Amino acid sequence: MTFFYRCYHFILQCIISFIGVPNPRLYTGYNGFEQWLETWNNKKALLVVSDSTLFNLGLLEHTLALLDEHKITWHLYIDVSPNPTIDNVENGLSLYREKQCAGLVAIGGGSVLDCAKMIAVRSVKPKKSIKQLKGLFKVLKKLPPLCAIPTTAGTGSETTVAAVINDPKAQTKYAITDFCLVPSDAVLIAPLTQSVPNFITAATGVDALTHAIESYIGKIGTDFSNQKALNAIKLIFNNLPTAFNHGDNLVARENMLLASFYAGQAFTRASVGYVHAIAHQFGARYGTAHGLANSVLLMPILTFYGEKIYPQLAAIGDFCEITQVEQSTQEKAKIVLKTIEQLLLELKIPNTLAEIRATDVGELATAAMKEAHPDYPVPAFMSHTECEAIISQLTE
Ligand SMILES: [Zn+2]
Repeated sequence: MTFFYRCYHFILQCIISFIGVPNPRLYTGYNGFEQWLETWNNKKALLVVSDSTLFNLGLLEHTLALLDEHKITWHLYIDVSPNPTIDNVENGLSLYREKQCAGLVAIGGGSVLDCAKMIAVRSVKPKKSIKQLKGLFKVLKKLPPLCAIPTTAGTGSETTVAAVINDPKAQTKYAITDFCLVPSDAVLIAPLTQSVPNFITAATGVDALTHAIESYIGKIGTDFSNQKALNAIKLIFNNLPTAFNHGDNLVARENMLLASFYAGQAFTRASVGYVHAIAHQFGARYGTAHGLANSVLLMPILTFYGEKIYPQLAAIGDFCEITQVEQSTQEKAKIVLKTIEQLLLELKIPNTLAEIRATDVGELATAAMKEAHPDYPVPAFMSHTECEAIISQLTE
């Protein structure tokens, strides 16, 4: 079976290398947003997609004022739920059509960015429902311009090929994956992440770290994805503690946004691994926040891989300049593991999750294995029993 999985991973790697995932044009700061606005010279209307919390916090004010200054007509859609639904997308689409918009600006976390991506998709796929678009390569069309402005440093949705939309009636969610879902533009504005509470800064930051590590130690990384992953890890090691302890430090905030962007570029090409496969099951069953679930699982999974990932961990240590040339691969790997462990400690990440029930462990493991195999190019395969043991460790 594992031979079949590896063949599948090889084919996946060929597709990604052959077709090539696009990158958004990257801008930084409100100046960067103005530069993007200058490219919007057709002056057609834009749909601004966000959520009511961000709107009520006044986080959209400066962006909307800049749109006015540039005499661009805009319409606001702020009814995106924390887990965006099909209705959120369809209502946004109605406004987009009614106001004859020609592009979108999305300001928010992963949920807002995913909802905006799907409004863009539905605008070019009027006859296909979201359910019909789920899975791989069902869109295959150029989308209208989408300027993605993340307000958390973690998901990397501003540069990824996927969107996740919930169907509350069917009690399920759909992942839509296509290269055309990568937004045309991304703007990283550090002040927008300043009001994020520090426990969310920690969890979303470790989500980005997990994207970078899982893509780097996985089997289908390319030179490009590996370089982006290493850059993301170094930025996170050097900036996440400051962003967590001193939320108003805009340099650390900007570096975390950049790290999240690089990690997004890495994992959208080289995929993720067992941390995500298991974390998604905690999210689905208990509503555990994605970043927190990843944070709790990261060390147990890296420990499970053991010596098989020592060379990659040692390379991370060298790149981040936390190891010495004369040290052995094993010594370097252990330093990197210790660095991650200490980072999690400093970020006050718990070792267990109270919501996990011992009676659910078997089903959680089955679902995680189903998600991981064969899709995730993990560095070493895990059995159902091993997966159960890791989840059991996390119960209180
Ligand atoms: Zn993630």
